[in-house]
Amino acid sequence: MKKLLDLFFPPRCAVCGEVLTLEERNGFLCHECAEEIPYFPKEKCPHCGGETNNTGFCDFCVKHYAFESACAAFPYETVRDAIHLFKYDGDKTIGYGLGELMAEYLLKYHEELLVKTDIMVSVPLHPKKEKFRGFNQTHILCERISEKTGLVFGKKVLERKRETIAQSELNPEERKLNLKDAFGVTADVAGKRVLLVDDIFTTGTTCNECATALYRAGAQEVMVFALSAAGTE
Ligand SMILES: [Zn+2]
Ligand SMILES: [Zn+2]
Repeated sequence: MKKLLDLFFPPRCAVCGEVLTLEERNGFLCHECAEEIPYFPKEKCPHCGGETNNTGFCDFCVKHYAFESACAAFPYETVRDAIHLFKYDGDKTIGYGLGELMAEYLLKYHEELLVKTDIMVSVPLHPKKEKFRGFNQTHILCERISEKTGLVFGKKVLERKRETIAQSELNPEERKLNLKDAFGVTADVAGKRVLLVDDIFTTGTTCNECATALYRAGAQEVMVFALSAAGTE
């Protein structure tokens, strides 16, 4: 049965989305990606590609946000196909692989985040959208990160209070309005240092709104960790 399934839905690389060869199928990466995982270079700002300071962002970009720091594991282009297979085709094996690579990225480049974080939370989907998709992709990433690093995952800490339009259809000003007061905090985060996880960091508006809600609820520090970022804007 598995062989038959493999024929129609062959296992694919969690980074580049290529179909894995028979010998590569023991893992979740193709040869090339396994040899050197194409992580986002630590010295490059995930938002503009400029030189980073100790926030994970460049001096310029980090000033525009409510959160203290941000970093991303991969350039968006590199993992675009894999994200698509995971999010829209529901290939969860890819999701587990990506979560594992995010954990490794933290262990390798941002141990300070692991030390600092009291609780990890994820950007919530509206319940209707989660039901439609069958899962929240960021939950899967966070569960894997938690397993590998021991970070505590507060699955329901953030909630989406109302339905919003897909951000990708809007311009930057509309994005802000669309998400204004869209997020609520359901648990006690007072005095806590929170690691906020998202899958794609584009303009940062979603993370910014989540961070604002967390600060309003008394969080001491909000740090962002994304699976991917565009890095060219
Ligand atoms: Zn690959
Ligand atoms: Zn920048």
